[in-house]
Amino acid sequence: MFAEDKLHEECGVFGVYDRDRTLDCARLTYYALYALQHRGQETCGIVTCDGNDFACYKNAGLVPEVFNDFNLNRFTGHMAVGHVSCTGHEDSHKQNSQPLLTRYTGDTMAIANNGGLANHNKLINELAQNGAIFHSDTDAEIIAYLLGWERITNGRMESALSQVMCRLEGAYSLVIMTQDQLIAARDPYGIRPLCIGKIGGAWVFASETAALKAVGAEYQRDVEPGEIVVVSDEGLTSVRDHVGKFKPRPCIFEYIYFARPDSVVGGQSVYEARRLAGMILGRETGVDADIVIGVPDNGLCAAIGYSEASGIPYGIGIVKNRYVGRTFIQPTQLIRQRNVEIKLTAVESCVKGKRVVLVDDSIIRGTTSANLIRLLKEAGATEVHMRVSSPPFLWPCYFGTDIPNKHELAANNLSCDELRKKIGADSLGYLDVEDLKRIVPELDGYCDACFSGDYPRF
Ligand code: SF4
Repeated sequence: MFAEDKLHEECGVFGVYDRDRTLDCARLTYYALYALQHRGQETCGIVTCDGNDFACYKNAGLVPEVFNDFNLNRFTGHMAVGHVSCTGHEDSHKQNSQPLLTRYTGDTMAIANNGGLANHNKLINELAQNGAIFHSDTDAEIIAYLLGWERITNGRMESALSQVMCRLEGAYSLVIMTQDQLIAARDPYGIRPLCIGKIGGAWVFASETAALKAVGAEYQRDVEPGEIVVVSDEGLTSVRDHVGKFKPRPCIFEYIYFARPDSVVGGQSVYEARRLAGMILGRETGVDADIVIGVPDNGLCAAIGYSEASGIPYGIGIVKNRYVGRTFIQPTQLIRQRNVEIKLTAVESCVKGKRVVLVDDSIIRGTTSANLIRLLKEAGATEVHMRVSSPPFLWPCYFGTDIPNKHELAANNLSCDELRKKIGADSLGYLDVEDLKRIVPELDGYCDACFSGDYPRF
């Protein structure tokens, strides 16, 4: 919501292989990237291949800003890979945008990745010692370099990738396209999501099922943690060298915040996980109040759950201006304090004279919550009780998100009551870390390291 106080998932990936050569793969990828836009708003790109030649276009900007009929018409081919990302600092957008298109011994490949390698710096240093030159800060370039090296001695891309995976520590959900194959792979913990769909004779891979729906693909299954899935004219095959290496630990925060509520991740509905989180909050952090409202968009499902469990009516107490985009001119210093009103507005008729429960997905630095509570009180709310559908953030994430270092996390520096006072709430309640397992009953395990400090080990 606010660049300075909201988290970003760093990437979304998509790939399509159309064995029948009937689909417009570039446009299909364009629509899929549109559906994945929430996973990255800074750069996007598409690469297609017709079996011989590759075509690539990528740039900084949202999908509809970067692509138009003119540049989409230039793509041909029965394969495509697409990517959306938040790449960090604006100066690095160009070189960090994906998919990366690289040449190596005897072939060309396009590679798109979602994740974060915990051993990124170690690998960069090792490779640089051996003469490697890098043009970006991406894990995708490290993986491409390792793959190119491995292919010198390894005849098959999938077996080269299996070797490379032995050296990778962290989260990666990859889609790789060569002249005759589309390959998807997921790290052995399965930290970031990646699913498989089908449209007629075409196979597709996507970060979320919402992208499958957007292009009319039918969900088949998830890429398993550690699995390499290869699609070619011969069909689909699975390489399972790394499956079962670790007990899977998908990111719990995909369910709370990153993924779309209409997606199903690991067999579990994201909407239901959020609603359950709200219900648990409603039962365990209940308070006397007149209305429950959610912070758009990600607090809404949990607010509905809170209302259901507590019996307190649900209302739309905050409205979001959907047209404040990346290109929004930041206000001058003079009106910066009122920045929040440009993006979000309190609905006076909903909250005036009422004791309000305000539900949001997380608190990072606390500035967004403080601004929202001020807005609600200015609109006449008599009390604002803040409820958070995740546990307090105490630790950073090394797996492809921008959760900041622990000194910037409000809950790490302040007690619950100090934070309550800082944001101006009348009470503050979080989901308990032990309750996370209750919001994803379909899962056998998950990563919750940013809340518990219990990181996956490699
Ligand atoms: S540390 Fe947190 S955000 Fe990162 S993968 Fe684990 S649960 Fe997800």
